[in-house]
Amino acid sequence: MNKIYFFIGSQDLYGDETLKQAEKNGRAIAEFLNDKLCDKCAVEAMPIVRNSKEAEAVSVKAVSDPACIGVIMWMHTFSPAKMWIKALQLLNKPMLHLHTQFNEKLPYDEIDMDFMNLNQSAHGDREFGFMCTRLGIKREVVAGYYKNDDVVAQIRRFAEVAGAVDFSKSLKVAMFGNNMRDVSVTDGDRVESEIKYGWNVNYYGIGDLYEIISKVSENEIDRKMYEYTNKYDMDTDNIAAVREQAKYEVAFEKFISEKDISAFTDTFEDLHGLNQLPGLAVQNMMAKGVGFGPEGDYKTSALSAVLFEMAKGRGGATGFTEDYTYDLTQNEELELAAHMLEVSPVFSSGKPKIQVHPLGIGGKSDPARLVFDGISGEGIAVSMVDMGNRFRLICAEITLVEQPKVMPKLPVARLMWKLKPDFKTGAAAWIYAGGAHHAVVSTALTTEDIRLFAKMTNTELVVIDEKTDLNALEQQLELLDIIAEKR
Ligand code: MN
Repeated sequence: MNKIYFFIGSQDLYGDETLKQAEKNGRAIAEFLNDKLCDKCAVEAMPIVRNSKEAEAVSVKAVSDPACIGVIMWMHTFSPAKMWIKALQLLNKPMLHLHTQFNEKLPYDEIDMDFMNLNQSAHGDREFGFMCTRLGIKREVVAGYYKNDDVVAQIRRFAEVAGAVDFSKSLKVAMFGNNMRDVSVTDGDRVESEIKYGWNVNYYGIGDLYEIISKVSENEIDRKMYEYTNKYDMDTDNIAAVREQAKYEVAFEKFISEKDISAFTDTFEDLHGLNQLPGLAVQNMMAKGVGFGPEGDYKTSALSAVLFEMAKGRGGATGFTEDYTYDLTQNEELELAAHMLEVSPVFSSGKPKIQVHPLGIGGKSDPARLVFDGISGEGIAVSMVDMGNRFRLICAEITLVEQPKVMPKLPVARLMWKLKPDFKTGAAAWIYAGGAHHAVVSTALTTEDIRLFAKMTNTELVVIDEKTDLNALEQQLELLDIIAEKR
């Protein structure tokens, strides 16, 4: 199980009694949080830290424990922060600085200097905060009484996002075929992606997959068909086309499990040996949390796997989709998102239908796919682009809506949403920011989750929400360019 280490900072000045009590209080907070987060991770208190050697020791322990996904810092008593320099320089795990007290209320009648010396995080946390700022350490500062629901919720978010960052660090992505020819925004620096996010992205010839496809047995296809008919409505007589997709999925699953891969891409430009573009096969895998990006979009593929991991246990839907077309009726503008085939059935408002239709692109046989109408509710669309000298995340808040009319001739799954703060601003902002035509949409995550992920991974973030003003956004983008050039 993932672990978060709880650090209690102090010093030698106050004597054994105070130190014992400070450690005891720290352990009590750690135990309380451990109880609250037990479904996500363990919270483990470290021995109280009195000097730089002890600070270094707990830091080394956190860094070298692969189960440790992050640390919580609490300066219960005053802890002169020069003693934290080495420890902080070593620490490479996400940090939450918990600015809290063991006591909720001041004991007005009883308060004396002993109480002051024991309960002085207002003092000690400022000293520690300065050092983190001086060292340029990105961290999440959470202030408030530790038992308050909002404080616990912020710590839970930290645990979820830190867990996703940890997952990201060992994520392997397979590209079947390369990036779609001449397409820009889906391309990127794979070496930098691995340095920054840990994504190990490798190309595989479609022949490697075809080799496995050609050996899938009728029994294996039968089992996959059983899974499909349990989950979805069979809305086609062309069972052979559906079985073809079942065969692909069995092969994909074998390939990725053998190589410990959690996300993949394919491209309709490179399907040698396959009769159909993988549609239903990919859709069914996306619903299980396997990352996917079409046309060689490895960034969206990896990001979808990471965000799916972040959203685990929250409910809601998270997956890839593509900006496709609009209803531009003035003041009622809606966006329709879909793809050639590959939209995750987690977004379905009902039971998805398996249908077989021709594909107007790629020159292959008619592929089986899941067709459905999308869910409604508040959500975010997240895109990652490579700016040449850094990556940028763009997070737009959206409202998913029911489609206003049926679309009986549209042969793909679709989602519809409204942009914020309004269509003109939201769409222009996305385009100014360089956001892709591929995004990960989530009704489980919020902008706050993406903000925290960006902070933990030191990634530039552009948010488009109710407050977005185009002039301010353009200025922000210019400043971001200047900052990036200076670095
Ligand atoms: Mn696309």
